[in-house]
Amino acid sequence: MLRVGVNGYGTIGKRVADALAAQPDMEVAGVAKTTPNFEAAAAHRRGYAVHAALDERRPAFDEAGIPVAGDLDDLVRASDVVVDCTPAGVGAQNRERYETHDTPALYQGGEDADAVDASFNARANYDEIAASDAEHVRVVSCNTTGLSRVLAPLEEAYGVEKTRATLVRRGGDPGQSDRGPINDILPDPVTVPSHHGPDVNTVLPDLAVDTMGVTVPATLMHLHAVNVTLETEADADAVSETLASESRVFVVPERARVAGPAHLKEYAKDAGRPRGDLWENCVWGASIAVEGRDLYFFQAIHQESDVVPENVDAIRALAGDADAAESVVKTNRALGVGSFETTRSETVTTDGRGAAASADD
Ligand code: NAD
Repeated sequence: MLRVGVNGYGTIGKRVADALAAQPDMEVAGVAKTTPNFEAAAAHRRGYAVHAALDERRPAFDEAGIPVAGDLDDLVRASDVVVDCTPAGVGAQNRERYETHDTPALYQGGEDADAVDASFNARANYDEIAASDAEHVRVVSCNTTGLSRVLAPLEEAYGVEKTRATLVRRGGDPGQSDRGPINDILPDPVTVPSHHGPDVNTVLPDLAVDTMGVTVPATLMHLHAVNVTLETEADADAVSETLASESRVFVVPERARVAGPAHLKEYAKDAGRPRGDLWENCVWGASIAVEGRDLYFFQAIHQESDVVPENVDAIRALAGDADAAESVVKTNRALGVGSFETTRSETVTTDGRGAAASADD
């Protein structure tokens, strides 16, 4: 059993902790939290050993009646691997702490690529990371994960000459009441191309990809408008099959009448997904179009959860416990990733774990 500690228990950290707890080969060594708020109380109720991430805050946990199992050093000592889910930039500051204990660590997409030994996406470079000496590895951001998951199979099947993608980004997560805009549409960043293309190159180095970012008053998901110039001709049906054969891509069938992210979130909640999470890229099947060698499609990316299965796989890659295919299958099975089938024998489960099948609607 791999003992994994989670430092930072917010949007990503709480999902990662639950995903680890669901794995047959992992256990949650504990979680570290700065503030004894409702999320810390929920972590305690879920049975996670709560650690005070900052020593001076420990009395506040006692006052709030949340039992503290130890400090951050205690958590790192109890862990074979730490997953750092602290806010952007804090992870890089924590690296030295993990190194002091000789404990490998994962970081999230908010950290700079040069703050770590390597960047990771299971579809793009699992085996490379597993074969390397990297001990401090960054799971790329939600948008980069979303792009890498479709570009890797397109490159393998048809070759990718050039990708151009416009990323319509949510202003904040549903729980982030301090984010915005609330009444604007922002070129973000205004400089073009945006940093997302180079970020894809941290896991798929040879791909030509330019991106532009726009931030809108929405919280549910990001929406990508993608144009890929392929090296060889393909028709829309073949591309649809290529994408649908990826376990972390959900090609949304037209008959489902999914208009946008709001419907997708309902879809996930109706399927019993925890927190209404959509771990898969959601590609609108009806949007897949090919003109000559130019492929077009829309995809929605659930920023709160698409990186979660990637974190689980990255732990196995660091530990050298499984190859890519074994790890992805194990992770998917434990969480229920890929339980939205795109064929007529649609599989929608009540517990989100891919058990029962229902008829086409
Ligand atoms: P968050 O703010 O929801 O959670 C961060 C948690 O860390 C909070 O509980 C905060 O209290 C805690 N924290 C703050 N300082 C800390 C410290 N010094 N030690 C320990 N904990 C501390 O943030 P998030 O959205 O979960 O983002 C975490 C990382 O994941 C960032 O790098 C972010 O860029 C990345 N990420 C976020 C999303 C997203 O859409 N939310 C998607 C992919 C990647």
